[in-house]
Amino acid sequence: MHGRKDIMDKKKLHIESQLQIHAGGDDQYQSISYPIYQTATFAHRGFKEQTESTGYDYTRVANPTTRQLELEMALLEGGADAAAFASGMAAVTAVMETFKPGDHFVVDNDLYGGSTRLFQTINTKNGYEFTGIDFSTDDPEQYIRPNTKAFYLETPTNPMMHVTDLEKVSRIAKAHSILLIVDNTFLSPYYQQPIKWGADYVIHSATKYIGGHNDTLGGFVVSATQELGTKIRDMIKITGNELAPIDSWLIIRGLMTLAVRMDRSQENAFRLAEWLQKNPHVTKVLYPGLPDSKGYEIMKKQATGFGGMLTFEVDSAGFAHSILDHVELVRFAESLGGTESLITYPITQTHSEVPKELLDKNGITDRVLRLSVGIENGDDLIEEFERVFAAAEKEN
Ligand SMILES: *Cc1c(COP(=O)(O)O)cnc(C)c1O
Repeated sequence: MHGRKDIMDKKKLHIESQLQIHAGGDDQYQSISYPIYQTATFAHRGFKEQTESTGYDYTRVANPTTRQLELEMALLEGGADAAAFASGMAAVTAVMETFKPGDHFVVDNDLYGGSTRLFQTINTKNGYEFTGIDFSTDDPEQYIRPNTKAFYLETPTNPMMHVTDLEKVSRIAKAHSILLIVDNTFLSPYYQQPIKWGADYVIHSATKYIGGHNDTLGGFVVSATQELGTKIRDMIKITGNELAPIDSWLIIRGLMTLAVRMDRSQENAFRLAEWLQKNPHVTKVLYPGLPDSKGYEIMKKQATGFGGMLTFEVDSAGFAHSILDHVELVRFAESLGGTESLITYPITQTHSEVPKELLDKNGITDRVLRLSVGIENGDDLIEEFERVFAAAEKEN
């Protein structure tokens, strides 16, 4: 087998070093980059040896390149196992498929729009019940019913940056024997490891920071225990939504620079957040790294960084539209977590299908813009914003 023991022995290393060690594998040629096992199936040497499989029989069930990536993710998140999926939504879907009709879930009102869409369509059709709350302010214990099976949340949330105290929520979950599911896409394991605070499942859209280059889709479910991990592995085998070997390799490559990418994004995000705070057309800046932001103290306790995502509100919808019309270095696009800065208009993009009353409740208006800050030169980003705001001012 490839370097599992090797990886596990290196738990003591800092995360920046851990990110580099998976690359060697222990392929017989000592290659530095892990090989792409571009194969659908694996042969057995003979009838008798069939039971002594190499551990790999068919790529839908397991593939060495994908497995290498999964072990790396389990290590980074401090989980017992991880499973790689074709997208973040495939990962969310797999977790939700482990439950049964009649089960109830307490979910955050401010989630990635696709997760809310899954809950309200397929999951509801299949007999699941949902209660939406704000985990950062509401007491989740009050919403627990006899059939409640899990809490589902993101911290910070997308796009309103609410921060939830994971330790506090997991204590409530454990007291009632319900699972805590955390989507950790915004911070990645480099800045936050929810299992350490009591999460049972950690979900990722690897399309974002983990892959980091906007060149492939991917998703993960990291499980705190082997028992939960087995349920997820079974789900991949049954439903066939695993990550392909070549995409696994792209994400292995992306992970190697996770630390430097996130640090630079964060540095740029701080500069932009401070610049935006001073601009008279900006009515709100939501960045959890600002000491006066609501979640700041909790972030400091449970995360080692604040990330590269920030949301801001301007004084009119027209001003927001002008910003989108004038960006050049920053691109007007959906998605986040890549090397390039992207600006998103949640109301018509990521959150376009979220019911109006939920949008209103969360303050996602036509004046709100979300920024995924990239790794460009910070001075250039500030200059871009100065130019864009000057142009928007002329039009509004
Ligand atoms: C993008 C995203 C997802 C969905 O991931 P895909 O890879 O696009 O399927 C889930 N959660 C969060 C927080 C995301 O940003």
